[in-house]
Amino acid sequence: MTESVQKETLGFQAEVKQLLQLMIHSLYSNKEIFLRELISNASDAADKLRFEALSDAALYENDSELKIRVAYDKAARTLTITDNGIGMNRQEVIDNIGTIAKSGTREFFSQLSGDQKKDAALIGQFGVGFYSAFIVADKVTLTTRRAGLTAEHGVRWESAGEGDFTLETVEKPTRGTEIVLHLREGDDEFLSDWKIKSTIRKYSDHITLPIVMKKSEWKDGQEVPTDEDETVNRASALWARSKSDITEEEYNEFYKHVAHDFEPPLAWSHNRMEGKQEYISLLYVPAKAPFDLYDRERRHGIKLYVKRVFIMDDAEKLMPQYLRFVRGVIDSADLPLNVSREILQHSKDIDAIKAGSVKKVLGLLEDMAENEPEKYAGFWKEFGRVLKEGPGEDFANREKIAGLIRFASTHTDTEEQIVSLKDYIGRMKEGQEAIYYITADSFAAAKHSPHLEIFRKKGIEVLLLSDRVDEWLVGSLPEFEGKKLQSVAKGDLDLGKLEDEAEKEEQKKAEDALKPLVDRIKNTLGDKVKEVRVTHRLTDSPACLVTGEGDMSANLERLLKAAGQDAPNTRPTFEINPQHGLVNRLQNETDDARFADLAALLFDQALLAEGGQLEDPASFVRRLNGLLVQLP
Ligand code: ADP
Repeated sequence: MTESVQKETLGFQAEVKQLLQLMIHSLYSNKEIFLRELISNASDAADKLRFEALSDAALYENDSELKIRVAYDKAARTLTITDNGIGMNRQEVIDNIGTIAKSGTREFFSQLSGDQKKDAALIGQFGVGFYSAFIVADKVTLTTRRAGLTAEHGVRWESAGEGDFTLETVEKPTRGTEIVLHLREGDDEFLSDWKIKSTIRKYSDHITLPIVMKKSEWKDGQEVPTDEDETVNRASALWARSKSDITEEEYNEFYKHVAHDFEPPLAWSHNRMEGKQEYISLLYVPAKAPFDLYDRERRHGIKLYVKRVFIMDDAEKLMPQYLRFVRGVIDSADLPLNVSREILQHSKDIDAIKAGSVKKVLGLLEDMAENEPEKYAGFWKEFGRVLKEGPGEDFANREKIAGLIRFASTHTDTEEQIVSLKDYIGRMKEGQEAIYYITADSFAAAKHSPHLEIFRKKGIEVLLLSDRVDEWLVGSLPEFEGKKLQSVAKGDLDLGKLEDEAEKEEQKKAEDALKPLVDRIKNTLGDKVKEVRVTHRLTDSPACLVTGEGDMSANLERLLKAAGQDAPNTRPTFEINPQHGLVNRLQNETDDARFADLAALLFDQALLAEGGQLEDPASFVRRLNGLLVQLP
């Protein structure tokens, strides 16, 4: 058998090159994090090996003591990180180290602005992992062999981080990965025993495996490594320790490891559950949304362990979609070690763990909303639109989630979403029975909608909804605390006790008086409208369009059509305002052709005012111009 040991030179994916440059510049001031990233990868590799070895113990190759070794060589100016984890085969090295295997990479790069400060924050969200080695090294040599392959299947990857890397097949008797960093000239910081050990203790103390180094001693005013090993970190599963024993710093560093994030989390909930299901959960809410939060393919953030043994990443069964930003660890004492994704799909135990974990996260958020409103506002900015998916997805917790949702409203008239349904109810007018809202495709369209006129006049608050997800939200949230959610643009507006007898009387009169006009408009507009009637909603505008109580809102119809989906063509009800000059004008119009033009104009205007699109814009312009030339 002839094994190719030829050295091959391959180019990085274009983005990798760009990423390396950006990272070296933006992370240099915080360069020690490279060690955390490499140790974090080594720890993941050990987790993977332990899991695969559950069904194939031979993978241990008589070496089941998993550990990470860190060593340095002053003379050679190298720092070496070695693990005996799963290792990689040739293809895995190419896929993992030469490309960025993350979905959404392109979008990430399109967001970069060239402004170093802004880009540095983005790079934190993206996570650079292995490549952070190039912050301190001008050459990196990675030698690896996948567990289960024979010694001659080792692979050596080497790169100066400048556009290409070499790959060759080498003998590697031990499985796992060894990474040698050739440190940049003039940068001696990491050639110090003390510096390395303190960095490990600072960032990687929570790593479950022992991180070992040679003990050093002082000789002739120098630190010299001895032959004796010492374990530098605490090497116990952080989540299994008692809360009182864990510092905030440790919680933060552990988060960065599990979430592959560079920034500390916003909050966490650490729980030991006993009873029917025994498990520990340590769940984090990140401070910043990842760049691919809306990517459907994206990974979920919960790592599943069984009795401290890592089972899988991204266990999507453990968190619902609307909490997909939550990161952390769940460690079950009851699940079998050979649990697979398929088993998880139908496991009652998993359902119970998920329900319990969701409760903890919602509780954490409720607590934050109540006691740290500013922090909660920050959370809402990052993840609010995701949480709004909740009432539609999680029926059991609908009311709880609805309580956490924040809206823009006519109370503040600003785009900021800070009004809760509880706040709204607290401000309801005497006699008001419903929670009123309007949906539109932009905040401005919602805020200026003619449908709000009567509500503004009467000082009744209306929620202004303009996120895409809002239609889905109101569709799945018919009521809150016994109060119906009511669109102001739907159905026959009945303000009930909010109107007095005199107002009702007046409306009745107007309706009777305008009956002939209403019929005439209906005849002219024909199929365009379902019905024409006198409005109760308007004070300033001449007319508006209303959707039937049970019909899809015009906004949703437009959203669906824009997305290329099927949506029914619902015919709106056309409401006219008897107080308005244009309506009077119509009433006095004797010329049938001019009447038809005016009625069509009014209709098109109403459609435009609510953000709709004209079916025949050219005719609208022709009619409008026809009237404009008649101006005195
Ligand atoms: P991330 O860890 O965020 O996925 P990295 O760039 O740090 O990104 O690593 C990319 C991939 O390379 C990892 O997901 C893993 O599959 C592989 N890898 C990195 N380091 C090691 C290692 N020490 N042992 C085995 N595989 C590794």
